[in-house]
Amino acid sequence: MSWATCAHGHAHWGRRGAAGLLLADRGTVLLQLRAGWAHQGGTWSIPGGAREHGETAVDAALREALEEMSIRARDVAVRSAYVATCGGWEYETVLAHATGPVRLRHLSESVDHVWAEPDEVGDLPLHSGFRAAWEAPDGELRRFVGATRV
Ligand SMILES: [Zn+2]
Repeated sequence: MSWATCAHGHAHWGRRGAAGLLLADRGTVLLQLRAGWAHQGGTWSIPGGAREHGETAVDAALREALEEMSIRARDVAVRSAYVATCGGWEYETVLAHATGPVRLRHLSESVDHVWAEPDEVGDLPLHSGFRAAWEAPDGELRRFVGATRV
C-alpha cells in the first residue's frame, strides 16, 4: 500500500484508490472513531482503506469493515455505491444496510463507534474525505441512510 498523487497534486491513501463501507440501520449510520495514531486520527469516518491489487471496491470495503470493526459480510446487504473522484483518484463509498443485529468489535485503527442520526453527523469532527462525501451537493449518502428508516 502506498500514497497516490492525484492530478491536483494531493496525496491520497491507496495507489489503486480506496473504498469504505457506509452501513445504515433503521435510519442511522455507523461511524467509526479513528485512533489517534491513524491518518486524521481522532476524527469520525466509516471503516475503509486502500484497495488492494485485483480487489473490487465492494471487496475492499467489506474487508476493511471486517479488519477494523469485525463486521461480517453476511450481516450486511450491499445496495449501491457512491464514487467521489479527485484528479483521477477514486474513493468509492459502498452503501449497505444491516440485515439484522450487527455485533461490532474495535480492531486496528477503530477505537469507538456511534450509530448516528443523519442530522448529527455534520456536527462531529469528521475525516475530511468522509465529510466531503457526506456533504456532497447531491446528498446521496444522507438520502440512502434516511431510506433505511422503518
Ligand atoms: Zn486529489
